[in-house]
Amino acid sequence: MACGSSKTTSSEDANVDQAAKYAASITAKDLGEHLFIYASDAFEGRDTGEPGQKMAVAYLKDFYISEGIVSPLGGDDYFQEVPAEWINKNVRRGTFKDSENVVAFIKGTEKPKEIVVISAHLDHEGIKDGEIYNGADDDGSGTVAMLEIAQAFKMAVKAGKGPKRSILFLHVTGEEKGLLGSKYYTDVDPIFPLANTVCDLNIDMVGRIDDRHKADPNYVYLIGSDKLSTELHDVSEAVNKKYTEH
Ligand SMILES: [Zn+2]
Repeated sequence: MACGSSKTTSSEDANVDQAAKYAASITAKDLGEHLFIYASDAFEGRDTGEPGQKMAVAYLKDFYISEGIVSPLGGDDYFQEVPAEWINKNVRRGTFKDSENVVAFIKGTEKPKEIVVISAHLDHEGIKDGEIYNGADDDGSGTVAMLEIAQAFKMAVKAGKGPKRSILFLHVTGEEKGLLGSKYYTDVDPIFPLANTVCDLNIDMVGRIDDRHKADPNYVYLIGSDKLSTELHDVSEAVNKKYTEH
């Protein structure tokens, strides 16, 4: 899927069909296996800078290495350090230790300098009054969705059908403390120029089922797709219509 022309041509249709082929590798079983680890008590609610959050970032890094998906930082450095000093200057309340965003990268075939960001926040609220806040939905769901999306894109790359634009997989820290990891990326250390960054598809709480959708839980809420341009809105509407409205 490209954030390109809003007119659907047959070649775009073929691209969507290709995407569907690799998207089929994203299964509830795989997502569940990741999520039961990522939101387990062992990760202690993934509070920013704490040992459980360090386990979470190690899990993400190990996944990308095992899938052969590289870091845009080079080598085995998948962590964009977010220093405690900066965090504590920007946080609303509390004091925190050093933290990190996790980054992985798939290079585009036709427009490698144009970047599509796929993001989700890696942190949650930690332990309060002895109770672990696991954050399976917020945002374990978005995090494991990203892992499976990355894996599907990597499969496409191996088959010579990689994305035209480059994709940055950006797991941001400190969201619960005030969008800190996102702010650090955009305001302090954008790994790729923001001018070349086409869009950010952020995924948060896609595990939620509300009363309106009890009969058919196969849905997501899409927010903001028609704000800066209508192209993304048109693309997502077309794909939704083709694959979910029968
Ligand atoms: Zn969230």
